[in-house]
Amino acid sequence: TPYALEIEDLSVEFRTRDRTVYAVNGLDLKIRKGETLGLVGETGAGKTTTGLAILNLIQSPPGVVTHGSISVNGSCVLRIAEPEAETPEEAPVPAENAGTVKLQKETPAEKEPEKPAKAIRRKDQKPQIAEAMTEKELQAMRGKTVSMIFQDPMTSLNPVLKVERQISEVIEKHEKLSRSEALDKARQMLELVGIPGERGKEYPHQFSGGMKQRVVIAMALACNPDLLIADEPTTALDVTIQAQVLDMMKKLREQNGTSMLMITHDLGIVAEVCDCVSVIYAGRVVEHGTLEDVFDHTLHPYTKGLFNSLPNMKDRKARLQPIPGLMPDPSRLPEGCAFADRCRYATDRCFHERPEVLHRTEEHTVACHLYTPENIQKGGVLDHE
Ligand code: SF4
Repeated sequence: TPYALEIEDLSVEFRTRDRTVYAVNGLDLKIRKGETLGLVGETGAGKTTTGLAILNLIQSPPGVVTHGSISVNGSCVLRIAEPEAETPEEAPVPAENAGTVKLQKETPAEKEPEKPAKAIRRKDQKPQIAEAMTEKELQAMRGKTVSMIFQDPMTSLNPVLKVERQISEVIEKHEKLSRSEALDKARQMLELVGIPGERGKEYPHQFSGGMKQRVVIAMALACNPDLLIADEPTTALDVTIQAQVLDMMKKLREQNGTSMLMITHDLGIVAEVCDCVSVIYAGRVVEHGTLEDVFDHTLHPYTKGLFNSLPNMKDRKARLQPIPGLMPDPSRLPEGCAFADRCRYATDRCFHERPEVLHRTEEHTVACHLYTPENIQKGGVLDHE
């Protein structure tokens, strides 16, 4: 397979007694080997949940992967076809949202796989069986094949352990090395991220924020993973340190050929380090393409809104135009386009019908009713104010 990561039609819910949050809703994502994909969207769009699902770290309960498949380097990590049978008490459905839940729950999954799909199932989808890696296989995969870096380095570091020991523990878990060999390699990893090896004897609190994040990156790279998931890795750092850490990640990626999923809300970071970008809204990818596609031939009104809400360095008098409104409550998703309430192009159809994915090129896709197979080639449907 040419892909380091393939996610198809992933849906993840969090169920509590009085509500069900639909965090990810039919998400598709692909990363070619050696490439970096930026997953961009506002807080609560389902970015982190997607990252956790790849490592099979969705805590259950309350989290449930209800549908979809995930493969890393061609190996299936997870595949769920049949949504669990559900009792009304487990997921109370507000009357006005009955339509949404219908899309998710009454999809003719395994019982009638040959039937054409309703709304969120694609026509080409084959019948699937539910399967997943065993916990042992997953343990081996985490760190070795896939590593994840979180926003706050302290969530990954143990405050009472010397940093070289923390890195060497990861190495020992995955490689047959003696304690001292693993410690040597840990110090080399520190050097690689720009920290003198002898500082490995220190504890996390002796490092600054940027240095701690470097330690975490060294730890994540210690087993030379095929896929690195970086969840807002520089958000907690100040701007100059942010630039240094990003620069370092770029260099490491070039040296090691690691594929990367960069989760961020910052289009500046995407422009800096990514090859491709997927824009996510209410748990679904609304636009995907190469940097050039998405930056120069923007198709989706939400993507356009993200750009308009950035400061424009060329025209400093231009006013920022934040996207009005808020993302819909993920426990009460509308049945049509989730962006409809905030979209200045919305028509009646947008409120009732979920838009399908259309291709402008093989790579560049959009899910929006503004486009037809004919007009999508021309682009330019959005006003360029
Ligand atoms: Fe706007 Fe309709 Fe497109 Fe959704 S489908 S983004 S509401 S135009």
